[in-house]
Amino acid sequence: MSLTVVGSIAFDSVRTPFGERERMLGGSAVHFSLAASFFTEVRVVGPVGEDFGAEQLGVLEGRGVGTEDIERVEGGETFFWRGRYDYDMNVAHTDDTQLGVFAEFEPKLSASSRGSEMLFLGNIQPDLQRRVRAECDGADFAALDSMNLWIETARESLLAAIGETDCVLLNDAEIRMLTGEPNLAKAARALMAMGPGVVVAKRGEYGAALFIDGDLFAIPGYLLEDVRDPTGAGDSFAGGFLGYLDGHRASGRSPLDPVALRKAMAYGSVLASFNVEDFGTERVASLTMDEVAERLADFRRITHFEVD
Ligand code: AMP
Repeated sequence: MSLTVVGSIAFDSVRTPFGERERMLGGSAVHFSLAASFFTEVRVVGPVGEDFGAEQLGVLEGRGVGTEDIERVEGGETFFWRGRYDYDMNVAHTDDTQLGVFAEFEPKLSASSRGSEMLFLGNIQPDLQRRVRAECDGADFAALDSMNLWIETARESLLAAIGETDCVLLNDAEIRMLTGEPNLAKAARALMAMGPGVVVAKRGEYGAALFIDGDLFAIPGYLLEDVRDPTGAGDSFAGGFLGYLDGHRASGRSPLDPVALRKAMAYGSVLASFNVEDFGTERVASLTMDEVAERLADFRRITHFEVD
C-alpha cells in the first residue's frame, strides 16, 4: 500500500474574517499528503522554486511524507495563490494565481512513485493530470480533484482526464457546473456516466455525499465552533478519504468496498475539520493519530441515531 499524489505545492496568502497570513505553505498536494499520511505511505510529485526551503520540506517530512519527487527548479518561483474568504467561508475568492514553476512542469516520476497502488491527481492543469495518470501505471485506483478554473478553461482535457480515473472528488457547485445539471444527485450520476465508479460531492461545512453504483451515502461536516481558515479543507478531505482507503488494503479490502468507503468519508470529514481549525498546515502538521481517533468517535456519536 502506497499513494502517490501530484498537485500544487504552493505558497498561499490568505485572509479570512479571523486573521491573515502571507506566503504560508499550502497547495493541493501538501494539504492532501499531510492528511493521507495518517493512514498510508505517501509520495508527493511536483515542482517548487528556489524560494522553497528546508522549513517547508520539513513540514512534509515531519509527517513521513516522501519528498524524493519534489523537483527544485533553479531560478524558478513556487506556485503562488492569494485568496480571501468573507463570512460565508464556503466560498473562496481568488485574487491572484501565479503558476511559477508549474508553467513549464514536465512530470517525472521515480520508480517508487510510479509503482504506487493508488494515485491522487490533485487540482492542477488537467493535461498534467493525464500525463501523470499515464506514467503511474502501477496504480489500480486513481482519483481526481479539479476546480472551476479548469472547468472553464480546459474543459475537454478535464473530461478526458475524468474518463481515465476511478474516482472524482469535486465541490457540489463544480459537479453542477461541469455537467450542466442543477440537481446534485442527477449531476453526480451524469459524472459517473463519464467513467468513474465513485463520485464524492464535497459540500463545504455541510459535509459530503458519496455516489457509487446503486447506492449513496451522505454525512454532515463535523460542526466546529472555531473555524479560522478553510483553505485546503477539500484536499484534506481527499487525503483522509483516499489515505484510509489505501491503508485499508493491508487488511485485504478493495477501495471499492462499500463499508470501507463509508468509513473513508468519515475520516475525510475528520481530517478536513482539523485543517480548518487553524491557518494553512498549522493544525494538521502537529496533529496526532489519538486526536484523529477521538474526533472520529465523537463524529460517530453526533451522527448516530436509533430507529425503533
Ligand atoms: P481547497 O482544498 O480547495 O481549499 O484548495 C486550496 C489549495 O489549492 C490552496 O492551498 C492553493 O494553493 C491551491 N490552489 C488554488 N488555486 C489553484 C490552482 N489554480 N491550481 C492548483 N492549485 C490551486
